Amino acid sequence: MSELIWINGEVMPLAEARIGVEDRGFQFADGVYEVIRLYKGKPFTLDQHLERLRKSADGIELKLPVAVEQLRGEITRFISRGAVGEGMIYLQLTRGAAGRNHAFPDCRPTLLFYARVLEPLGDPEKSEGIRLITVADERWKRCWVKSIALLPNVLAKNKALAAGADEAVFLDHGVVTECSASNIFIIRGRRLLTHPVGAKVLPGITRAVLLELAPSVGLSPAEEAFSEDEAIHADEVFITSTTREISWVSRWDQATIGGAKCPPQTLALHRALRERVAAETA
Ligand code: PMP
Repeated sequence: MSELIWINGEVMPLAEARIGVEDRGFQFADGVYEVIRLYKGKPFTLDQHLERLRKSADGIELKLPVAVEQLRGEITRFISRGAVGEGMIYLQLTRGAAGRNHAFPDCRPTLLFYARVLEPLGDPEKSEGIRLITVADERWKRCWVKSIALLPNVLAKNKALAAGADEAVFLDHGVVTECSASNIFIIRGRRLLTHPVGAKVLPGITRAVLLELAPSVGLSPAEEAFSEDEAIHADEVFITSTTREISWVSRWDQATIGGAKCPPQTLALHRALRERVAAETA
Protein backbone atom coordinates (compact mmCIF):
# COMPACT_ATOMS: atom_id res chain seq x y z
CA MET A 1 0.00 0.00 0.00
CA SER A 2 1.42 3.39 -0.91
CA GLU A 3 2.12 5.81 1.94
CA LEU A 4 -0.54 8.45 2.51
CA ILE A 5 -0.29 12.03 3.64
CA TRP A 6 -2.86 14.42 5.12
CA ILE A 7 -2.17 17.80 3.60
CA ASN A 8 -4.34 20.87 4.19
CA GLY A 9 -7.36 18.69 4.86
CA GLU A 10 -6.89 16.27 1.97
CA VAL A 11 -5.59 12.70 2.14
CA MET A 12 -3.53 11.57 -0.86
CA PRO A 13 -0.53 9.37 -1.71
CA LEU A 14 2.59 10.92 -0.13
CA ALA A 15 4.45 10.66 -3.44
CA GLU A 16 1.84 12.89 -5.10
CA ALA A 17 1.80 15.68 -2.51
CA ARG A 18 3.27 19.00 -3.68
CA ILE A 19 4.44 22.10 -1.79
CA GLY A 20 5.00 25.42 -3.54
CA VAL A 21 8.56 26.59 -4.14
CA GLU A 22 7.68 29.75 -2.25
CA ASP A 23 6.37 27.93 0.79
CA ARG A 24 7.94 29.80 3.70
CA GLY A 25 8.94 26.54 5.30
CA PHE A 26 11.22 25.96 2.30
CA GLN A 27 12.54 29.52 1.96
CA PHE A 28 12.71 30.75 5.58
CA ALA A 29 12.36 27.62 7.75
CA ASP A 30 9.26 29.52 8.86
CA GLY A 31 7.47 26.67 10.59
CA VAL A 32 7.23 24.21 13.44
CA TYR A 33 6.81 20.46 13.69
CA GLU A 34 5.96 17.48 15.91
CA VAL A 35 6.90 13.81 16.05
CA ILE A 36 4.34 11.59 17.76
CA ARG A 37 5.03 7.96 18.55
CA LEU A 38 2.62 5.20 17.48
CA TYR A 39 2.55 1.95 19.42
CA LYS A 40 0.32 -0.79 17.98
CA GLY A 41 -1.25 1.89 15.82
CA LYS A 42 -2.16 4.08 18.79
CA PRO A 43 -0.63 7.48 19.49
CA PHE A 44 1.24 8.00 22.77
CA THR A 45 0.80 11.36 24.56
CA LEU A 46 -1.02 12.85 21.56
CA ASP A 47 -2.59 15.65 23.62
CA GLN A 48 0.78 16.72 25.03
CA HIS A 49 2.23 16.86 21.50
CA LEU A 50 -0.68 18.93 20.21
CA GLU A 51 -0.38 21.31 23.14
CA ARG A 52 3.35 21.73 22.42
CA LEU A 53 2.51 22.32 18.74
CA ARG A 54 0.12 25.08 19.74
CA LYS A 55 2.78 26.68 21.95
CA SER A 56 5.46 26.38 19.24
CA ALA A 57 3.10 27.98 16.70
CA ASP A 58 2.37 30.73 19.23
CA GLY A 59 6.14 31.17 19.64
CA ILE A 60 6.47 32.08 15.96
CA GLU A 61 3.26 34.15 15.88
CA LEU A 62 1.42 31.59 13.79
CA LYS A 63 -2.15 30.52 14.42
CA LEU A 64 -3.08 26.87 13.88
CA PRO A 65 -5.30 26.74 10.78
CA VAL A 66 -7.57 24.19 12.51
CA ALA A 67 -8.63 23.89 16.14
CA VAL A 68 -6.53 21.48 18.22
CA GLU A 69 -9.62 19.31 18.83
CA GLN A 70 -10.28 19.06 15.09
CA LEU A 71 -6.64 18.26 14.36
CA ARG A 72 -6.76 15.55 17.01
CA GLY A 73 -9.77 14.03 15.20
CA GLU A 74 -8.04 14.22 11.81
CA ILE A 75 -4.92 12.48 13.16
CA THR A 76 -6.97 9.81 14.91
CA ARG A 77 -8.99 9.14 11.75
CA PHE A 78 -5.84 9.04 9.64
CA ILE A 79 -4.07 6.47 11.82
CA SER A 80 -7.21 4.37 12.17
CA ARG A 81 -6.62 3.39 8.51
CA GLY A 82 -4.08 1.10 10.16
CA ALA A 83 -1.19 1.47 7.72
CA VAL A 84 1.35 1.93 10.52
CA GLY A 85 1.47 -0.03 13.77
CA GLU A 86 4.90 0.64 15.28
CA GLY A 87 6.00 4.01 14.04
CA MET A 88 5.48 7.72 14.21
CA ILE A 89 3.49 10.62 12.88
CA TYR A 90 5.55 13.47 11.44
CA LEU A 91 3.54 16.70 11.47
CA GLN A 92 4.66 20.03 10.03
CA LEU A 93 3.08 23.45 10.02
CA THR A 94 4.50 26.36 8.00
CA ARG A 95 3.26 29.89 7.45
CA GLY A 96 2.34 28.88 3.90
CA ALA A 97 3.24 29.93 0.36
CA ALA A 98 3.42 33.58 -0.74
CA GLY A 99 5.71 35.82 -2.81
CA ARG A 100 9.09 35.82 -1.09
CA ASN A 101 9.23 38.62 1.45
CA HIS A 102 10.38 38.65 5.06
CA ALA A 103 7.15 40.40 6.08
CA PHE A 104 4.39 38.06 7.24
CA PRO A 105 2.06 37.44 4.29
CA ASP A 106 -1.68 37.02 4.40
CA CYS A 107 -1.81 33.40 3.27
CA ARG A 108 -3.06 29.99 4.31
CA PRO A 109 -0.61 28.03 6.46
CA THR A 110 0.57 24.65 5.17
CA LEU A 111 -0.33 21.85 7.56
CA LEU A 112 0.55 18.25 6.85
CA PHE A 113 1.21 14.97 8.58
CA TYR A 114 2.02 11.40 7.61
CA ALA A 115 2.86 8.15 9.37
CA ARG A 116 6.14 6.23 9.10
CA VAL A 117 7.12 2.79 10.31
CA LEU A 118 9.94 2.70 12.88
CA GLU A 119 12.11 -0.26 13.81
CA PRO A 120 10.70 -1.62 17.07
CA LEU A 121 12.93 -0.78 20.05
CA GLY A 122 14.64 -3.69 21.76
CA ASP A 123 14.66 -4.89 25.35
CA PRO A 124 16.19 -2.07 27.46
CA GLU A 125 18.03 -4.67 29.53
CA LYS A 126 19.95 -5.84 26.47
CA SER A 127 20.53 -2.38 25.02
CA GLU A 128 24.06 -1.15 24.44
CA GLY A 129 25.26 2.16 25.79
CA ILE A 130 25.55 5.03 23.35
CA ARG A 131 28.41 7.40 22.75
CA LEU A 132 28.06 11.19 22.90
CA ILE A 133 30.39 13.85 21.62
CA THR A 134 30.23 17.42 22.89
CA VAL A 135 29.47 20.36 20.59
CA ALA A 136 29.27 24.08 21.44
CA ASP A 137 25.62 25.15 21.75
CA GLU A 138 25.42 27.84 19.10
CA ARG A 139 21.66 27.62 18.62
CA TRP A 140 19.20 30.47 19.10
CA LYS A 141 17.64 31.26 22.47
CA ARG A 142 14.15 29.96 21.70
CA CYS A 143 14.90 26.24 21.77
CA TRP A 144 11.54 25.72 23.50
CA VAL A 145 10.00 26.29 20.04
CA LYS A 146 10.03 23.05 18.06
CA SER A 147 11.22 24.91 14.97
CA ILE A 148 11.94 23.28 11.61
CA ALA A 149 15.13 25.43 11.48
CA LEU A 150 17.30 22.51 12.54
CA LEU A 151 20.60 23.18 10.79
CA PRO A 152 22.72 23.50 13.98
CA ASN A 153 21.18 20.23 15.19
CA VAL A 154 21.77 18.55 11.82
CA LEU A 155 25.43 19.67 11.77
CA ALA A 156 25.95 18.52 15.36
CA LYS A 157 24.39 15.11 14.71
CA ASN A 158 26.52 14.56 11.65
CA LYS A 159 29.65 15.59 13.52
CA ALA A 160 28.77 12.89 16.06
CA LEU A 161 28.21 10.25 13.39
CA ALA A 162 31.47 11.17 11.63
CA ALA A 163 33.27 10.66 14.95
CA GLY A 164 31.72 7.19 15.36
CA ALA A 165 29.36 8.46 18.09
CA ASP A 166 25.56 8.27 18.24
CA GLU A 167 24.48 11.71 19.34
CA ALA A 168 25.89 15.18 20.01
CA VAL A 169 25.40 16.86 23.37
CA PHE A 170 25.34 20.65 23.42
CA LEU A 171 27.49 22.59 25.91
CA ASP A 172 26.55 26.18 26.66
CA HIS A 173 29.65 27.64 28.38
CA GLY A 174 30.32 24.36 30.17
CA VAL A 175 26.64 23.74 31.02
CA VAL A 176 24.97 20.67 29.51
CA THR A 177 21.73 21.74 27.79
CA GLU A 178 20.35 18.97 25.57
CA CYS A 179 21.33 16.84 22.58
CA SER A 180 20.81 17.37 18.85
CA ALA A 181 17.52 15.45 18.90
CA SER A 182 17.00 14.44 22.53
CA ASN A 183 16.96 15.64 26.13
CA ILE A 184 19.61 14.53 28.61
CA PHE A 185 19.44 13.46 32.26
CA ILE A 186 21.96 12.49 34.92
CA ILE A 187 21.41 10.46 38.08
CA ARG A 188 23.45 11.17 41.20
CA GLY A 189 22.53 9.01 44.16
CA ARG A 190 18.72 9.20 44.19
CA ARG A 191 18.58 12.53 42.37
CA LEU A 192 17.48 12.76 38.76
CA LEU A 193 18.62 16.00 37.10
CA THR A 194 17.84 17.61 33.76
CA HIS A 195 18.31 21.18 32.53
CA PRO A 196 15.20 23.39 32.84
CA VAL A 197 13.28 23.93 29.58
CA GLY A 198 13.33 27.36 27.95
CA ALA A 199 15.92 29.30 25.97
CA LYS A 200 18.20 26.31 25.44
CA VAL A 201 16.03 23.23 25.98
CA LEU A 202 12.98 21.85 24.20
CA PRO A 203 10.17 20.73 26.51
CA GLY A 204 10.52 17.10 25.48
CA ILE A 205 7.40 15.03 25.96
CA THR A 206 9.41 11.95 26.98
CA ARG A 207 11.32 14.19 29.40
CA ALA A 208 8.06 15.34 31.02
CA VAL A 209 6.74 11.77 31.32
CA LEU A 210 9.98 10.63 33.00
CA LEU A 211 10.01 13.53 35.46
CA GLU A 212 6.50 12.46 36.43
CA LEU A 213 7.43 8.76 36.70
CA ALA A 214 10.68 9.29 38.64
CA PRO A 215 9.20 9.14 42.18
CA SER A 216 7.55 5.79 41.35
CA VAL A 217 11.04 4.25 41.02
CA GLY A 218 12.44 6.03 44.08
CA LEU A 219 14.11 8.93 42.27
CA SER A 220 13.73 12.54 43.24
CA PRO A 221 13.54 14.67 40.08
CA ALA A 222 14.85 18.21 39.73
CA GLU A 223 15.04 20.58 36.77
CA GLU A 224 18.53 21.90 37.46
CA ALA A 225 21.44 22.72 35.18
CA PHE A 226 24.60 20.62 35.52
CA SER A 227 28.11 20.90 34.13
CA GLU A 228 30.00 18.63 31.78
CA ASP A 229 32.17 17.53 34.70
CA GLU A 230 29.09 16.58 36.74
CA ALA A 231 27.79 14.53 33.82
CA ILE A 232 31.04 12.62 33.34
CA HIS A 233 31.14 11.84 37.07
CA ALA A 234 27.43 11.03 37.43
CA ASP A 235 26.27 7.54 38.43
CA GLU A 236 24.10 7.24 35.34
CA VAL A 237 23.52 9.33 32.22
CA PHE A 238 20.77 8.85 29.64
CA ILE A 239 19.04 10.68 26.81
CA THR A 240 15.36 10.65 25.84
CA SER A 241 13.16 11.26 22.83
CA THR A 242 9.89 10.15 21.32
CA THR A 243 11.56 7.85 18.79
CA ARG A 244 14.31 6.40 21.01
CA GLU A 245 12.50 6.40 24.42
CA ILE A 246 15.61 6.11 26.63
CA SER A 247 19.22 5.44 25.62
CA TRP A 248 21.83 5.07 28.33
CA VAL A 249 25.18 6.74 27.77
CA SER A 250 28.43 4.79 28.13
CA ARG A 251 30.90 7.18 26.48
CA TRP A 252 31.27 10.95 26.70
CA ASP A 253 33.92 12.16 24.25
CA GLN A 254 36.93 10.08 25.41
CA ALA A 255 35.54 9.33 28.90
CA THR A 256 33.79 6.10 29.91
CA ILE A 257 30.66 6.25 32.08
CA GLY A 258 29.47 3.20 34.01
CA GLY A 259 29.84 -0.45 33.03
CA ALA A 260 28.81 -2.73 30.21
CA LYS A 261 25.09 -2.91 30.97
CA CYS A 262 22.25 -0.44 31.26
CA PRO A 263 22.58 0.92 34.83
CA PRO A 264 19.83 -0.03 37.31
CA GLN A 265 17.94 3.24 37.85
CA THR A 266 17.86 4.05 34.13
CA LEU A 267 16.56 0.54 33.54
CA ALA A 268 13.86 1.01 36.20
CA LEU A 269 12.79 4.27 34.56
CA HIS A 270 12.67 2.65 31.14
CA ARG A 271 10.49 -0.16 32.51
CA ALA A 272 8.19 2.40 34.10
CA LEU A 273 7.97 4.23 30.76
CA ARG A 274 7.12 0.99 28.94
CA GLU A 275 4.38 0.31 31.49
CA ARG A 276 2.98 3.81 30.93
CA VAL A 277 3.04 3.26 27.17
CA ALA A 278 1.32 -0.12 27.53
CA ALA A 279 -1.38 1.34 29.80
CA GLU A 280 -2.06 4.33 27.53
CA THR A 281 -2.05 2.47 24.24
CA ALA A 282 -3.91 -0.66 25.41
N1 PMP B 1 15.39 18.09 22.19
C1 PMP B 1 15.47 18.20 20.85
C2 PMP B 1 16.36 19.25 20.27
C3 PMP B 1 14.74 17.33 20.03
O1 PMP B 1 14.80 17.45 18.69
C4 PMP B 1 13.94 16.31 20.63
C5 PMP B 1 13.19 15.33 19.76
N2 PMP B 1 12.06 15.90 19.20
C6 PMP B 1 13.88 16.23 22.02
C7 PMP B 1 14.62 17.14 22.77
C8 PMP B 1 13.02 15.21 22.71
O2 PMP B 1 11.67 15.56 22.67
P1 PMP B 1 10.51 14.48 22.67
O3 PMP B 1 10.70 13.64 23.90
O4 PMP B 1 9.26 15.27 22.71
O5 PMP B 1 10.65 13.68 21.42
